[in-house]
Amino acid sequence: MDRVWLRAQWANARLYLLDVDGRMLAREDREAPLLADASRLAADWRPDADDAIFLGLDKERQAHFAVQLPGDVDLRVPAVGIREAAAMWPAAESARFAHAAALFGWRRRHRYCPQCAAPLSPRRAGNSLACEAGNGCSEQFPRTDAAVIVIVVHQGKCLLGRQASWPEGSYSALAGFVEPGESLEEAVAREVREESGVRIGEALYRGSQPWPFPHSMMIGFHAVADDPQVTLGDELEDARWFGADDLADGYAAGSLRAPAAISIAHRLLHDWLAAQPGEAAARALALLPDAARPGVRRASD
Ligand SMILES: [Zn+2]
Repeated sequence: MDRVWLRAQWANARLYLLDVDGRMLAREDREAPLLADASRLAADWRPDADDAIFLGLDKERQAHFAVQLPGDVDLRVPAVGIREAAAMWPAAESARFAHAAALFGWRRRHRYCPQCAAPLSPRRAGNSLACEAGNGCSEQFPRTDAAVIVIVVHQGKCLLGRQASWPEGSYSALAGFVEPGESLEEAVAREVREESGVRIGEALYRGSQPWPFPHSMMIGFHAVADDPQVTLGDELEDARWFGADDLADGYAAGSLRAPAAISIAHRLLHDWLAAQPGEAAARALALLPDAARPGVRRASD
């Protein structure tokens, strides 16, 4: 990235500010990030574009950067966590927060060259790290771990599972990381088989969601079961088939908990229910957490 151009952008940039714990500074009402310029920062601390992360230009070609404040800077404004922001902020703002949080988190965990152990320093406007020793070591780029997440369906029912550590009554889509050498479809089939024993046929891509906790990409599918027999593996405490009526009754009674509104699991379940006929599906849909959430890119978008 052109450093001269970047410095020119920096001079008029809008800055998103993160504290040392990775929370983003927000307006007093917490409903949007606090956007600052360099002159608002403490007089004795002047970050520049090398320390900051360039987040891109908006529609008005206004540059956005994120900076992480040192621990001793106190701007006396609220700081919001990434999950809270995902639930409350406009989609573009929470997406910038996720971008910044993912990169700052990656930098924090990658401080030394994996080849020669010399310190790494930011390049490409904070989007890569280079070895300071200049040994011809390769530049480091942030990694994204692909994970598949799937709702399997069979004869008007959907397969949901729960981990023992989840809150009581929580059931969600099955999910797992893609292994080296595996296609997404193969990962879906393997994860479903390992976790539930269910064999699937076709898997259809439904959308994706960056999940920077710390650096995953959730890739969402609906799949159709060939063999619906459930045989639990090691990872789940339970997995079972739910009809729309089971979900509606469980959500109404409080004995079942739906996936969080910000999650792609919620979107996958919502879309399946929305395609089901009958009053039970409508009832279950109405009982899901607020579905008008940002963060999930759908295949149809
Ligand atoms: Zn090196």
